Amino acid sequence: MDGKWQIGSLLAIPLYIDSSWFFILGLVTLVNSQEITQLNLVGNLWWLAWIAGLMLALLLFISVLLHELGHSLVALAQGINVNSITLFMFGGVAAIEKESENPIGAFWVAIAGPLVSLGLSVLLFTLLYTLPSRENLDTVRGLSVYMIEDIARINLVLGIFNLIPGLPLDGGQVLKAIVWKLKGDRFTGVRWAAASGQLIGWLGISLGLFLILLTGSLSGLWIVFIGWFVRRNAENYQRITQLQESLLTITAIDVMTREFRVINAHLTITQFAQDYLLTELHDVMVYFAASEGRYRGLIVIEDLQSIERSQWDTMTLWDIVHPLNTIPSVTEKTSVVTIIEKLEAINERYITVLSPAGAVAGIIDRGDIVKAIATYNQLPIPETEIKRIKEEGTYPSYLQLPAIVKTIDT
Ligand SMILES: [Zn+2]
Repeated sequence: MDGKWQIGSLLAIPLYIDSSWFFILGLVTLVNSQEITQLNLVGNLWWLAWIAGLMLALLLFISVLLHELGHSLVALAQGINVNSITLFMFGGVAAIEKESENPIGAFWVAIAGPLVSLGLSVLLFTLLYTLPSRENLDTVRGLSVYMIEDIARINLVLGIFNLIPGLPLDGGQVLKAIVWKLKGDRFTGVRWAAASGQLIGWLGISLGLFLILLTGSLSGLWIVFIGWFVRRNAENYQRITQLQESLLTITAIDVMTREFRVINAHLTITQFAQDYLLTELHDVMVYFAASEGRYRGLIVIEDLQSIERSQWDTMTLWDIVHPLNTIPSVTEKTSVVTIIEKLEAINERYITVLSPAGAVAGIIDRGDIVKAIATYNQLPIPETEIKRIKEEGTYPSYLQLPAIVKTIDT
């Protein structure tokens, strides 16, 4: 992964740090140490302010990590894998492999993080209650009490901020789970929570800009950034949901093409090679053999290499075809989700679509799939790109359909 380092693992979950994390670590250390100096907590021991500032920054990230572990543990308890936890500029992300199967499960995964943060906050505030006030303590002890106060506050903010009900925040996931439960449809839940996230993002951006104009200071810029981040992610959720819905809606008949040729099964291999293979420059053409109005099977060009040249004049295509019931195929009604999965499983360039009568209705390759999805979702994917996908048989990096398919429960 680029710009990401693994620093260890927790409960067998790999733990990563994004390069943007170091920037924030530095910034948070700076802000903390300044505050500690201003509060006159360290006297003239300026270096102690820096050490305490750094420790606070690290404790902030441990708090974020514990929050993510909250989500992860509940997911693990539901039998769902957690692929990684990554700490980055705006906090942490637990890459949970798939969504809970039902809204109740999704609700608990979502709320677990904020509950950990709020729980930690309550715990630390309770601890503070039993400790003497820092004015009566020496420098190091006073500083320790200050740090506990600060971390208690940070966890409170982490818990409350994440409960704001819009995607990508946990509160958005909670809202999604509730709407999912009420309306009985996951996609409706995501649409509501993503719309709410967009609104909250815009509110954040406006609030930040308003603060900058009002106070003339740039501290509102951070709120603008977070607002922008929330809005953009909410938009992504909307896009991905629309994409997932389209993958379940589109079927083979919408995707398939007739980019194959039907050849007389009585032709000898020599005739076939001369009339088609040597004259056609189209190196990715698919050939089926038929006779007496019936499909006899698929011709696999690679098979020819293993047939003695001396037999080419006597053997017919019928002798070497792979009958339709032995080749990988789908029906016209198969959803594109299943087609994508099957294509990956067989690791071929295309798959055959059979009609109810057992004839070849069409073939589907990865380019056809991308084209159908692009049309359905109004994604601007140029024809040259579709051609490249068809020839190379790989999905583009921005549309990794096998990975998207894995997020859909079928
Ligand atoms: Zn969370």
